[in-house]
Amino acid sequence: MALTGIAIFKLLPKTNCKECGDPTCLAFAMKLAAGKAELTLCPYISEEAKEKLSEAAAPPIRPVTIGVGDRALKVGGETVMFRHEKRFENPPGFAILISDTMDDAEIGSRLDRFKQLEYERVGLTLRPELIAVKSESGDASKFAGVVSKVKQNSDAGSILMSSNPDVLAAGLKVCADGKPLIYAATKDNLERVADLAKEHSCPVAVKASGLEELSQLTAKLIEAGVNDIVLDSGSRTVRQAFEDQVIIRSSALAKKFRPLGFPTIAFPCEMTTDPMKEAVIASMFVAKYGGVIVLSDFQGESLFPLLVERLNIYTDPQRPLATTEGIYEIGGPDENSPVLITSNFSLTYFIVSGEIETSKVPSYLLVKDTEGLSVMTAWAAGKFVADAIAPFVKKSGIADKVKHHKLVVPGYAAAESGGREEELSGWEILVGPRDGSQIPAYLKTWKP
Ligand code: SF4
Repeated sequence: MALTGIAIFKLLPKTNCKECGDPTCLAFAMKLAAGKAELTLCPYISEEAKEKLSEAAAPPIRPVTIGVGDRALKVGGETVMFRHEKRFENPPGFAILISDTMDDAEIGSRLDRFKQLEYERVGLTLRPELIAVKSESGDASKFAGVVSKVKQNSDAGSILMSSNPDVLAAGLKVCADGKPLIYAATKDNLERVADLAKEHSCPVAVKASGLEELSQLTAKLIEAGVNDIVLDSGSRTVRQAFEDQVIIRSSALAKKFRPLGFPTIAFPCEMTTDPMKEAVIASMFVAKYGGVIVLSDFQGESLFPLLVERLNIYTDPQRPLATTEGIYEIGGPDENSPVLITSNFSLTYFIVSGEIETSKVPSYLLVKDTEGLSVMTAWAAGKFVADAIAPFVKKSGIADKVKHHKLVVPGYAAAESGGREEELSGWEILVGPRDGSQIPAYLKTWKP
């Protein structure tokens, strides 16, 4: 059973040294009890206390890793119901479904789509993570053949799907070293699937008919020594699946109910035959609270919005995505090239730098640290005003790189251009476009 804050406090050093970032040991103990701090932040806890506290300090939803190496997917580890309370920790993985009844051409084209559908956005690569191989033939050797083909063509994590332990064992023989997720232990096969999970040290999903059966089955798996578990309540209607997700998350967080303290797997692919509706259902699970989301197929028009939604929901709301302050050289600029300035909100930076690249006019882009705020917000907050920008421009060293002294400021920050000329004596301030898409046309008319 989880310890209370006071019980945890009794095990701490009680020196109030503040090294954990909290003003007192009691404050730290309360955070540990709420799952909002990590035990490792206190360097002075004795080994004995560490052992006792490990359960209390463990995240209420156990982190589970599927796959190995750079492409491994970590899910779970969540500590809050709502993103604004702190942040969501580990984004859900998207899986494409491959059946062992599909012909080689269809399997090949799905594997190609899996590889090709990846996107660059705000400096990150957005892509799906998992390939779910489903046994529909019931034939163990056929299943193993498809698993082998997937393994040869991808280093992504996989899910082995069958209710037959013999079929799962055949798949594991091929790819157990890649630590796939075994799907699924049920009331009818629990012991044998638990043995497979232990033998190969792989995570296992448990599928039930409802939450009561689900918690009974996970309790049995834990008793059998299996700890890396993923939950499927078995619901395949939108309403019931949504309710189950919320109940699972709140039982784990608010009631610290261990049998439901695991990430979940959701199957929009089994909830509709309409691809657009499937994408909408998947988007619901991104927000509420899918750990793995299995789609019947991937198409760019539905996968890309899901990847962007996931990026947005799993961005720390307290820390905007920011780019490092400095001078960015785009396209090999020289002493006659334009100099533009913008804020360090990542989205702004990537839009502006992308438009400069499109213009094919080599340029310098000065990125001012505005704590990740966009131009307008930073201006309103006093972080992109004349007396904040001028010292940065002077210190940046840009004056040594160009012969001219002309600085292009974003159109939205035009109001202060006069102030900037006062602060930046010797520089001429030019007001650039308001919209990033107008940058290429603007730069083509630029003269030193
Ligand atoms: Fe107490 Fe440890 Fe935090 Fe120091 S670092 S205040 S001893 S909990």
